[in-house]
Amino acid sequence: MGVSPKEVQIREMKRKWASCSSKGRLSFSKDLLDQDPEFVKEVVIHELLHLKIPNHGKLFKLLLKSYKESL
Ligand SMILES: [Zn+2]
Repeated sequence: MGVSPKEVQIREMKRKWASCSSKGRLSFSKDLLDQDPEFVKEVVIHELLHLKIPNHGKLFKLLLKSYKESL
């Protein structure tokens, strides 16, 4: 996807599946390990895309869709 996160970590997260800091650090919930691989893929792509686009605008949704279809 042409992005390079500075750091990726898996940890306990109470209220969400993942997050992306403004400094390019990604966190994923430990609970994701028990989820459906397709769902996990979606969450990972979502967060990686935030390294390019920090919001959930039109472009974000468009790219998310195309990455999902191509991976
Ligand atoms: Zn998001």
